[in-house]
Amino acid sequence: MQATATTRAARGGLDLGGTKIEAVVVDARNHILASARRPTPTNGGPAAVAAQLAGALTEAAQSAGLEPAALKGVGVGSPGIVDTASGTVSSARNLPDWDGQFGLGPALAEQLGTPVFVGNDVQVATDGEFKLGAAKPYRSVLGVFWGTGVGGGLILNGKPWTGRGGAGEIGHIVVEIDGARCGCGRRGCMEAYAGRASMEARARRRVEKGTKTILFTLMKERKRTRLTSSIWAKALERRDQVATEIIDGAIRALGAGIASAQNLLDVEAVVIGGGLGVRFGQPFADRIAKEMLPHLFNDEHPPDVLTASLGDLGGAIGASLLARNSRHNAS
Ligand SMILES: [Zn+2]
Repeated sequence: MQATATTRAARGGLDLGGTKIEAVVVDARNHILASARRPTPTNGGPAAVAAQLAGALTEAAQSAGLEPAALKGVGVGSPGIVDTASGTVSSARNLPDWDGQFGLGPALAEQLGTPVFVGNDVQVATDGEFKLGAAKPYRSVLGVFWGTGVGGGLILNGKPWTGRGGAGEIGHIVVEIDGARCGCGRRGCMEAYAGRASMEARARRRVEKGTKTILFTLMKERKRTRLTSSIWAKALERRDQVATEIIDGAIRALGAGIASAQNLLDVEAVVIGGGLGVRFGQPFADRIAKEMLPHLFNDEHPPDVLTASLGDLGGAIGASLLARNSRHNAS
């Protein structure tokens, strides 16, 4: 295929999740030319993950009529602690056998033949919403990604705030001292009440105590191994008591935790994304806003609370922005 002005400036974006990898190829105006999805490998460690990422991106590029090496660059949103300068990732606990540091950026650059830029997954998703999505009208934004865990990203006065690399961990804001055990090992974190993994564990304990729920029936019917966002949504629709109580508790925790962050930062808008956030949509963003109110010190001026508008591909689209200033192939 003849390279056109559009495809010459095409970039790749990869979102590395705990269960799946999303890849996109976008043009100079950030329109999606092609996408691909693959499961995250469950064994084989970082090298297997890198190979799968390269495979997904190659598939997306070829669907767009391009080889990966023809791309201006590729951005990756990764969990864990990311060193953006070197492209290394460490402490990626949701990924298989990811002990110590791994040079994800250099490994991918070699396989793809184009520059690769690595950023924190939640921060790049927040950047995506800020530059292209629901948060476009605002200068200061808190992104809250409500999924398996609860991640946070910050834009303050138009610029990403990453602290010393560990900022934005809104899931571990304490909403109850000595409260429920969190996946991080501490107690009372917002994520211990609102994260999908914690909610699932809570539902299992209720079942073990003899409480009836359709949650796990739905899971088996759909041949799933975990309670996905759509299973929670369906159980709520059917007015399942356990699902309703657990989600109500999650929304109260999100209200308290996000309001506490707001009391500190006073951002203009909160964008709710992630698997559950996107699935539940604006009615639940409105419920979170309502639960925030009693905890807001400045309750006369609450922030706007909106659903992420880039949807499931928001993480990959946000990651593609990392490669926007790449000079590779520039002529
Ligand atoms: Zn925690």
